[in-house]
Amino acid sequence: MLVKTKDNKKIYVEVDRDLCIGASSCVAIAPDTFGIDSESKAYVISENNVDDYETILEAAKSCPVSAILLKDEKGNQIWP
Ligand code: SF4
Repeated sequence: MLVKTKDNKKIYVEVDRDLCIGASSCVAIAPDTFGIDSESKAYVISENNVDDYETILEAAKSCPVSAILLKDEKGNQIWP
């Protein structure tokens, strides 16, 4: 999903649900970006006013299975 961060950056944030093990560190670090659904998998909760860019990057890096994928507006891979 293309999201607009609190510091006005646009990035693509996706969760690979096949990889996600519901460890929740992404939610702990970036609660305005990630939630955990009824299947105990993370998802992106909103398109707007999500956490700032550095916080989302930190959340992605915290994922033990690298299930969070980040791309810039042009589709260039940021993480992993
Ligand atoms: S940190 Fe990774 S494994 Fe844990 S809930 Fe988030 S996406 Fe899933």
